[in-house]
Amino acid sequence: MEDVKELINKKVDELKDELIRSTQEVVRAKSVNGPKEPGKPFGEGPANAIAAALKVSEELGFKTKNVDNYVGYAEYGSGKELVGILGHMDVVPEGDGWTYPPYAAEIHDNKIYGRGTIDDKGPTIAALLGLKAIKDLGLPISKRVRILYGSNEELGSHEIEYYLEHDEQPDTGFTPDANFTAIYAEKGLTLFDLVMKFNKKASPGIKIKSITGGEVKNMVPRIAKAVLEAQDVKKVEGAIDSYSKAKGVDLRYEAAGSCLTITSVGVAAHGAQPETGKNAIMQLFMFLDTLDLGDTDVKKYIHFFAENVGMETNGKKFGVYLKDDTGELTFNIGTVNVSEDEGRLGLNIRYPVTHTYDDLIKPFNKKIEGTGIVIENMDAADPLYFPKDHPLIQTLAKVYQDVTGKDAVLLAIGGGTYAKEMKNIVAFGPNFPGQKELDHQTDEYIDIDHLVLLAKIYGNAIYELAK
Ligand SMILES: [Zn+2]
Repeated sequence: MEDVKELINKKVDELKDELIRSTQEVVRAKSVNGPKEPGKPFGEGPANAIAAALKVSEELGFKTKNVDNYVGYAEYGSGKELVGILGHMDVVPEGDGWTYPPYAAEIHDNKIYGRGTIDDKGPTIAALLGLKAIKDLGLPISKRVRILYGSNEELGSHEIEYYLEHDEQPDTGFTPDANFTAIYAEKGLTLFDLVMKFNKKASPGIKIKSITGGEVKNMVPRIAKAVLEAQDVKKVEGAIDSYSKAKGVDLRYEAAGSCLTITSVGVAAHGAQPETGKNAIMQLFMFLDTLDLGDTDVKKYIHFFAENVGMETNGKKFGVYLKDDTGELTFNIGTVNVSEDEGRLGLNIRYPVTHTYDDLIKPFNKKIEGTGIVIENMDAADPLYFPKDHPLIQTLAKVYQDVTGKDAVLLAIGGGTYAKEMKNIVAFGPNFPGQKELDHQTDEYIDIDHLVLLAKIYGNAIYELAK
């Protein structure tokens, strides 16, 4: 339906001023997640941004609903089935150093500046204006369409759980909160701690006082530090020197009396690509495992990980390796907190999409059985997977090609986007291949030409999904 595409695109061009104005209005509602207040589960900011999005929606002639300040939505059309477009109105803190005020939505150089302009207010409002084009044109659609305004994506997406308990699950749709063309596969995700209580502590020669390092589980840590007490500090220093030289690793030390601080320097990387980094924690563990720590629990703990993980990032030695067409399992140790009483490592394991949580956790549990090491604080998300020939993927790919004139590129990623929070939807834009990543950056902006193009792509996609 070539003529429908032209109609939608032309109508979006006519709606350009409303698109800009509506985007500015929601960007001006500062919406960083904050402490819960009565009737405002994520604080004042996200609630205000939902209100702003609903006001804009009503001004454009849409029915709206506010689901208790968790999620708001605009709805259009009739029919049994529901097409959902899931965007989020909350933002990450703006930080310092902005050229233009972060919540003024000022336009300079054909760009709207402000926190949330690209992540994710601008793209969500672009979808709303795409739907407005369909409405103004009176194009026939057979399903209802909902533009959903989430409010806690940046801090765990807890609003979606509430929404799904109280309102309707879309039958199909997308989230404009990642990359084009479409992300058809997102790995399964786990974040958890591996903990051991230390009972056997006596250690004559060398005593580990603490090991700390890493900030979050889903990053490869750049720095880890161990503080030791040693009878013969010089001997440990010599061991560090020769180990560093032999293995080509960056271990530094500083002594004060019988106390020695070892700093391990690695290379930071995202937890979804641990193979591109160098894990400072594991590098440190590998060295500490060469020391004589006596018959102690801390020695057992360190040795277990040195032996079963080492510098490996795919879980082979741990016995949990999995692989399919979308990639292999990734195994990252992101944080460490060892005291004299307890060892605690924070892990992020991502498993390929055709496998299940059980495929990972059964061999994992077997590995730690009888070691005294236990799992705590497990946080897991299932994989997202649509076969490439799934109608939703095919429809989005075709719309993208038709509207942009570019080839569609289907992506499989380490996960997870906002799409994971809701069944039946995938990530579709707003960032184009090779586009500079502005999400969460100082001077975040959306180019107005980009915003208009998004409204065209999303308008056409909504029409194709809802017709
Ligand atoms: Zn986002």
